[in-house]
Amino acid sequence: MNKHYDVVIIGGGIIGMSIAYHLAKAGKKALLLEANEVGKQTTSAAAGMLGAHAEGEGDEDIFFQVGRRSQALYKKLKVDLQHESGIDIRASAGGIMKVAFTEHEKRALCRMQHLPTFEWLEASSVKKRIPQITDDIIGAGLIEDDVHVEPYAVCRALWQAAVRYGADVKEFTPVIEVKTGKEALTVRTAGGTFTCDHLTVASGVWSGRFFEEMGFSHSLYPVKGECVSVWNNGPALAHTIYHDHCYIVQRDRGKLIIGATMKPNDWQAIPTLGGIETVIKKASQLMPSIQEMPIDQCWAGLRPATSDRHPYIGRHPEDERILFAAGHYRNGILLAPITGEIIRDLIVGEPVNEEWLHAFRIGRKEALFV
Ligand SMILES: Cc1cc2nc3c(=O)[nH]c(=O)nc-3n(C[C@H](O)[C@H](O)[C@H](O)COP(=O)(O)OP(=O)(O)OC[C@H]3O[C@@H](n4cnc5c(N)ncnc54)[C@H](O)[C@@H]3O)c2cc1C
Repeated sequence: MNKHYDVVIIGGGIIGMSIAYHLAKAGKKALLLEANEVGKQTTSAAAGMLGAHAEGEGDEDIFFQVGRRSQALYKKLKVDLQHESGIDIRASAGGIMKVAFTEHEKRALCRMQHLPTFEWLEASSVKKRIPQITDDIIGAGLIEDDVHVEPYAVCRALWQAAVRYGADVKEFTPVIEVKTGKEALTVRTAGGTFTCDHLTVASGVWSGRFFEEMGFSHSLYPVKGECVSVWNNGPALAHTIYHDHCYIVQRDRGKLIIGATMKPNDWQAIPTLGGIETVIKKASQLMPSIQEMPIDQCWAGLRPATSDRHPYIGRHPEDERILFAAGHYRNGILLAPITGEIIRDLIVGEPVNEEWLHAFRIGRKEALFV
């Protein structure tokens, strides 16, 4: 007899784990199946910025609205997870300093000036806050709400708490096949077969296979990102420094995370010398002193990208038992709490913002990625 669950979740990155946590907390019997180790794929590669402003395109943008909501959810989640799992997700204050080297860049940044969460600082004020920053900037936009967390700590905390609320989590258990018969959904894995009332595909960039098997032509594609971390032997950075997709993030214990390249369609999650060189070169232009800092480690991860850069979050249009939560591209850490809430609400039958569901629906006609 196969074991039966209310919900089976495929994929144990931050997205799958947030879904498991929210469902288990709502009283659903959930099983999460992870092919390797929980949180050790793209989730662990991330810098952990909650960059709703840094990544969004103004307050009209749906991504910005959803990102802001998820940022707000992190405030409560941090406290809840500390209590439920004993793990500190290492949310650090300070936010992001988006720097400008030219008047053109300043004008682009100052489009956010009407937002109460954005403040333009002239170069001298930036220098006071970040003495290590290059003299070449003309100023920066400070976004204090775009704080950062430690992605693997968040994933581990969600895991511990989900298990505490009754979820089962199986590592090294790849899903081999899903059968969508009328009676029940059947999930065949290397470690046995399970049946369930609902199934959620949350296997990051590897979700494309399930989309295809369930009748969609959507494919997700990887955008590889390479990073390096160094030991900061100077004063800690009070704010993340960000320019043109290059960032320097202060982590605790004196580490700086420097990222990241953007290499579409590269499936090899291994950093290259050329990639790391690019990242170091860009970061040195922002903060010359990093050249002297000892290297800690280099790594790469595969961002799960979609054609229009928005994730797929929602139900299969023809089979309400099947849900998708994949394609979070550069923002899966930011969007993990809201994604967990949306999938939970769809499954337990709570109302969900229709505009968001429409924007992230499966089967949408996507704008071309440019
Ligand atoms: C260099 C870099 C920097 C980033 N920085 C940020 C940042 O600062 N802020 C931010 O918000 N986002 C950032 N991101 C993006 C973020 O990391 C991703 O959007 C997020 O991790 C996606 O999470 P996920 O759970 O969907 O995918 P993953 O973490 O990849 O998890 C998917 C899981 O599914 C499992 N799986 C696959 N196939 C199967 C199967 N058949 N059966 C069972 N399990 C399976 C995999 O083993 C994997 O563990 C960054 C990404 C990179 C690469």
